[in-house]
Amino acid sequence: MKLFFYAALAFFSHSAMYGFSHVKQSAASSIVETPHFNDLRLYVDADTLILLDIDDTLLIPEQTLGSDVWFQYQYQLNEDKADPLDATLAQWEAIRHLSRMKTVEKDTAAVVSDLQNEKYCIMGLTTQGLALATRTVQQLLENGIDLIKTAPSQEDIYLMNERGVLYRHGILFTSGTPKGPALEKLLKATDLHPKKIVFINDKKSHLLDVAKSAQKLNIEFIGLRYSCSDERVAHFSPEIADVQFQYSTFSHLLSDEEAQNLLEQLHESS
Ligand SMILES: [Mg+2]
Repeated sequence: MKLFFYAALAFFSHSAMYGFSHVKQSAASSIVETPHFNDLRLYVDADTLILLDIDDTLLIPEQTLGSDVWFQYQYQLNEDKADPLDATLAQWEAIRHLSRMKTVEKDTAAVVSDLQNEKYCIMGLTTQGLALATRTVQQLLENGIDLIKTAPSQEDIYLMNERGVLYRHGILFTSGTPKGPALEKLLKATDLHPKKIVFINDKKSHLLDVAKSAQKLNIEFIGLRYSCSDERVAHFSPEIADVQFQYSTFSHLLSDEEAQNLLEQLHESS
């Protein structure tokens, strides 16, 4: 397990300007690499707020089409469009409404449920937009994950963070805006003051972003850089994704196996 310390455990400042000294201590902050969702358990204790990323951490689509890595690929294909981000988001959201999702690991839902039974405060934190909020809640429920059980608030909360962001059913949907500032606004709105935040996310950039906010609020932070999806992401097949995009219908998204078979037939007939 690799350990990255990017902030000092504590720092002390000393001032003699007015003839007295004071000691200022900042909260500890670290990022740990882990391939197991269950490792969350090692880092939580009383007064911990547990933050769970969704895509590639809790859930993945059953097929390549609609995955996070596909989004990045499709964005490049859309680069000649007037608004590539809007075009890709519209395609992604349509596919995600049609997709069946599964958990990244077999025990993902059980780990969340166990931590909720132990009364840890848990919520989701995703850059997904508002259009996907209700569908994502439903897909999590279908996979046995109900993030409202021990969430900071049972109510929907709408906030502004560059764009409108929505907290719904225990998940903060930041609409593509940075996760840290959106979380700061939610903590303020819910009057929540955790002593520690543990955040699991496959993207280190999002951990760093929330670490910055935690430091600002003097909250201890542990970021778990979740590597379980790395191999699948590294083996992303543009050919499979293209076949799925072209030949899927509203009633049936091609599985990776079906797309592979079709790809071979297309190669044979060409
Ligand atoms: Mg993710």
